[in-house]
Amino acid sequence: MKNIAIIGSTGSIGTQTLDIVRDSEDMCIVALAAGNNIERLIKQVREFKPKIVAVWKEDKALELKEALSEFNIRIVYGMDGLVEVATFEEADIVVTAIVGMIGIKPTIEAIKAGKDIALANKETLVTAGHIIMPLAKEKGVSILPVDSEHSAIFQCLQGEQNREIHKLIITASGGPFRGRTYEELKDVTVEDALKHPNWSMGKKITIDSATLVNKGLEIIEAKWLFNVEPEQIEVVVQPQSIIHSMVEFVDGAVKAQLGTPDMKLPIQYALTYPNRRFLPGERLDFSKMTGIIMEMPDRKVFKGLDFAYQAIRTGGTMPTVLNAANECAVARFLNKDIKFLQIYDMIAACMNAHTVIDNPSFEQILETEQWVYSYLSHNF
Ligand code: NDP
Repeated sequence: MKNIAIIGSTGSIGTQTLDIVRDSEDMCIVALAAGNNIERLIKQVREFKPKIVAVWKEDKALELKEALSEFNIRIVYGMDGLVEVATFEEADIVVTAIVGMIGIKPTIEAIKAGKDIALANKETLVTAGHIIMPLAKEKGVSILPVDSEHSAIFQCLQGEQNREIHKLIITASGGPFRGRTYEELKDVTVEDALKHPNWSMGKKITIDSATLVNKGLEIIEAKWLFNVEPEQIEVVVQPQSIIHSMVEFVDGAVKAQLGTPDMKLPIQYALTYPNRRFLPGERLDFSKMTGIIMEMPDRKVFKGLDFAYQAIRTGGTMPTVLNAANECAVARFLNKDIKFLQIYDMIAACMNAHTVIDNPSFEQILETEQWVYSYLSHNF
């Protein structure tokens, strides 16, 4: 039996993870954590009967206690609660399905406690990859990618050696605004930006897909997961989201992983690795496919990629600045406080104004996040 803890169980990745567990006789949920969606969390607890549950706020924890009084469950809250869930003794693997930099601490503590990580929360590796990867090695834990592109690369690398990688080719759908000019993006609305052509995901990552900042964060995530230089990572647009990513090896051979756009595959592979098992759902039908489209991304309009290459080459706290500025800008865009293109302006302003700290500690990463929030509140 594989015992699973999920942080962010009520979100898009969290609920799809539970769908997989529901259909698996050898997986068991022992711990869950969520933010505000108490109604959904209560249903999950009633169905999966975890031993510990965390929510973010104390009043929600009290609400949960009342609603679940017939169950013998430990209910905790706040960052201490998230860490308790992530380090729960009986868990073998932690699925980091929480959104944002809030995932860093629980992930670090889970690794320290010897838990394998099924990593969806890319913000953790973007900001603290230099802490996470060596720590995982020291503790002998596996970081198993859930992001579909990184799972694709991970699958292509089975039976291969990392040093034989020539380059990684990360695919992008291009998002809802693919093909638009800068001028045409000036007045796009939140509703337009949330209409992703292929994937159904949480709001933050959907906006990140529209700006291509998501692809930028994935470049940084790939650098840490696969120990490659930024020059070895290329992004191509594959609007059908059929090729999930590719690896070109030193001899020129290219391996790709293909499939329908369904996050359940990478989630399940992270949970069953190194084995595969049947997954119901739509399959690719090559007899109906008329062609696979490939394009180069328009980096002049969609600045997410250039920000990422700049951040990764500068290193230190710069990826944190990119990530934190983006988190803040996206929250304000979703709140309709700023326009779509101002997301780029806010990121660029923070990256230009920041004095980099090399090899930052966890505390310095959090201080940098605070610096970004304060800089943006004074300047935007
Ligand atoms: P969602 O917004 O759908 O879900 C986020 C989850 O995090 C929810 O369960 C939410 O709880 C929880 N959460 C947020 N804040 C807190 C908090 N303070 N304390 C505890 N829980 C909290 O996001 P996604 O599932 O789309 O994405 C999750 C992560 O996975 C992101 O890092 C994303 O980049 C990555 N990812 C997602 C993909 C996807 O297909 N969705 C694909 C690849 C990567 P609540 O709703 O109860 O407030």
